[in-house]
Amino acid sequence: MGKFLCKCKNEIKVSGAIPNPIEWLFISDTEYDGYTNPIEPDELYSKMNSFLKCDLCGRLWVFWGGYDNKPTLYMPESY
Ligand SMILES: [Zn+2]
Repeated sequence: MGKFLCKCKNEIKVSGAIPNPIEWLFISDTEYDGYTNPIEPDELYSKMNSFLKCDLCGRLWVFWGGYDNKPTLYMPESY
């Protein structure tokens, strides 16, 4: 999966530039709490999941189960 089209037709690049300017990494607070100093960056990186943010519409493509699984799509909503 190198790239795909967002629902707004914008191209979402999964791979390419390193670091990927539209990729965000995250880890649960519970899992992060299990770490003690010093934190090994590569080990922490391996535990994180990613989401890609469409820079046109703001939708988030969240890969809860890694890039081998289908993402969950979140769309901004005004409140
Ligand atoms: Zn979009």
